[in-house]
Amino acid sequence: MAYLASPRETKAIIDSYSFAFQKKFGQNFLIDANVLERIIDDGGITKDDFVLEIGPGIGTMTQYLCESAREVMAVEIDSNLIPILNYTLSEYDNVEIINEDALKLDFKKIVKEKNNGEPIKVVANLPYYITTPIVMGLLESKAPIESITIMVQKEVAHRMQTGPGSKEYGALSLAVQYYADAEVVLEVSAGCFMPRPKVDSSVIHLQIYKEPPVKVCDEEMMFKIIRASFNQRRKTLANGLKNAPNLPFTKEEIEDSIIKLGKDVNIRGEKLTLQEFAKLTDILMGEEESY
Ligand code: SAM
Repeated sequence: MAYLASPRETKAIIDSYSFAFQKKFGQNFLIDANVLERIIDDGGITKDDFVLEIGPGIGTMTQYLCESAREVMAVEIDSNLIPILNYTLSEYDNVEIINEDALKLDFKKIVKEKNNGEPIKVVANLPYYITTPIVMGLLESKAPIESITIMVQKEVAHRMQTGPGSKEYGALSLAVQYYADAEVVLEVSAGCFMPRPKVDSSVIHLQIYKEPPVKVCDEEMMFKIIRASFNQRRKTLANGLKNAPNLPFTKEEIEDSIIKLGKDVNIRGEKLTLQEFAKLTDILMGEEESY
């Protein structure tokens, strides 16, 4: 079987199966072998690795993963792609193709059952409509994951890396930076895909921390606070927290805590760093003496 990472091979497979691209699944297939080689390289994929690939498409990246990794599990939502994947990956005996919605996966269970609970690596050219829920789901699952190497929309990669003061700074930036060391490793132009998307893309590598870079007394509460702060971006931090139905704090408790943090009571949430959100959580929970 030839490598699929070229316009000619991709078109040949698509035509021979009369495959119709489904926009709703974000189907833009990679047709550039250099990009694939970089993803494998930057993902640090070796023959020791179990790799979970989300959205294999026709198997373009899966071919490279099968050759570089010990074992690959490829989860594809579109049942029309399953016969194609069975054909394009037929010469590999280290791949399992699963027809499922990746948003419904239990990552902890997969790692336990498929890799004896040992850390896995995740690699994907993600459909843009599920980037945030997939990344958040992977990070918050607490499954043993060593790294996540993903192709995402360029702006989303920027959002994952940015800090206070930027318009893109938000709950996704803070979650990514709490769980992982994030590095954009490659910019990819729209011409590297078939069909051509309207936006440019970036490959971002998230190396998951063994220990988060900040300590907080209640991680779940910190993320509730972070979400509430960014839910109402135009409101002050105090109003955002006060209006959040899932937070138990009174207006006075919130304002006192912001002052104790050393900030103006009218500050907006988007001005706080990850460290400051952790500290604010500790103060609100009466655990600030741990600092
Ligand atoms: N990996 C292939 C490549 O690089 O050429 C395809 C990437 S394409 C951007 C995204 C793929 O994810 C498509 O095959 C699409 O059908 C699949 N997909 C979309 N939503 C999904 C979901 N919720 N679960 C699993 N796969 C999904």
